[in-house]
Amino acid sequence: MPLALGVLPRFVALHCGVTEERLRALGWDDTFAAAFAPYADRSVPGRVTLEHQKIYRISTADDEILARVRGRLRHHADRRDRFPAVGDWVAVSPAAGSGGEGAIEALLPRRSRFSRKVAGETTEEQVVAANIDTVFLVSGLDHDFNLRRIERYLTTAWNGGARPVLVLNKADLAADLPAMVRDVEAVASGAPIHVMSSKRGEGVDALLAYLAFGQTVAFLGSSGVGKSTLINRLRGDDRQRTAEVRISDSRGRHTTTHRELLELPGGGLLIDTPGMREMQLWEGSLDDAFADIHALAAGCHFRDCRHTTEPRCAVATAAENGGLDPARLASFRQLQRELDAQARRQDELLMLQDKKKNKVVHKAMRNVTKIRL
Ligand code: GDP
Ligand code: ZN
Repeated sequence: MPLALGVLPRFVALHCGVTEERLRALGWDDTFAAAFAPYADRSVPGRVTLEHQKIYRISTADDEILARVRGRLRHHADRRDRFPAVGDWVAVSPAAGSGGEGAIEALLPRRSRFSRKVAGETTEEQVVAANIDTVFLVSGLDHDFNLRRIERYLTTAWNGGARPVLVLNKADLAADLPAMVRDVEAVASGAPIHVMSSKRGEGVDALLAYLAFGQTVAFLGSSGVGKSTLINRLRGDDRQRTAEVRISDSRGRHTTTHRELLELPGGGLLIDTPGMREMQLWEGSLDDAFADIHALAAGCHFRDCRHTTEPRCAVATAAENGGLDPARLASFRQLQRELDAQARRQDELLMLQDKKKNKVVHKAMRNVTKIRL
C-alpha cells in the first residue's frame, strides 16, 4: 500500500526524533552516538542511574530497566572498564539477560571518570561515577572551613576531567565572609566561586546555570557541609526532611542512602553517590589545581624541579619572600607526596602482575618441553 509506505518512514523519523531528544535529556551527545553505532543492530543505548551489587538500573530512551554485565565485558583488558559506574553510557539488550533482566553488551568510552582506591590492601581503582560535566566542591563557611581541603578537592576534580565549581555554603554562619572569599579566590586557580546559604535558599539559583538540559553535575564535600540540603533545594521538592531525620538521629548516623543519578525537573542531571562524596586522590597532576605554582616553576633552575630541596627553586623562593603563601606550598608538597606514593603502589602492582604472568608462561613452556621429551 503506497499510503502505508509513505506513512511509515515519517513515523520512524518522528519516533527517532523523540528518542534522540529523550537521550539528549539524559546527557547523550554525538560522541556517544558514534561510539554506540557498532552495537546499534542488537542493542539500545542507556545511561546507568543506579548500581547495586553489579545490578544496574538503566534509563533508555523509552524505558527504565535492570541489567547485568555480559561475560565478555567482564573480561575486558582494562580492569577499570570491566564494570559500568553510575553515569556511564552502555549498549544494552533489554531482555537478553536471564530472569527478565537486560544484558549490558558494551561500555561506551567515558568523557570523565571519578575513581577511588578499592577499600583494603589492594591497589585497585574503582570508578564511582562517570561522564560528569561539572563538580560542585561544597565547603561550609562555618568552623569547618579549610582551604587545604579545597585545594585537595580541586585537584581531584581537575584530574577526574570535570569542570570544578567552588560552592561556599552556610554564608549565614561566616565569621568574616569577605576575607574568606578572598582566601578562596587565592587558591581557586580560576574555578568559579558561588557563595550561598542552602538553609535559607540564598544564592542557590545561580547554580542552576550549570544544570542546563542534559548537563550532569556531581557533588564533592565533607559530611555536614550541606550537600543534601543543597540537592533538595535544587530538586525543589520537599525532601528537606532528609536532613531533619538525620539531625534527630541520636547517634548522628547518616540516614540518606541515595546512590544515583537524578533528573531535575528543569532538565539537568545530578549524580549523588556516597563514593563520589568522599573521593580520595587517586592519580594525576597538580598543574591545574596549583596553576600559580605551575607558573612559578618556569623560573626554577631544574626543569623537573619538585620544589622540595632543590637549589635555586623559584617556588621555594617565592614562598620565602611573600610571593606565595607557605601554607599553600606545604599543601602542594603533601598532595605531591600522596600522588607519588599512590603511583609507586601502582607500579609495584604492575610488576607483581608481570611476574605472575611470566611465571605462568614459564610453567607453560616447561610443560611444552616435557611433552616434547
Ligand atoms: P551533607 O552531609 O553535606 O549532606 O549536609 P546536610 O545537607 O545534611 O547538612 C548538614 C547540616 O547543616 C544540617 O543540619 C543542615 O540543616 C545544615 N545546613 C545546610 N546548609 C546550611 C546553611 O546554608 N546554613 C546553615 N546555617 N546550616 C546549613
Ligand atoms: Zn622549584
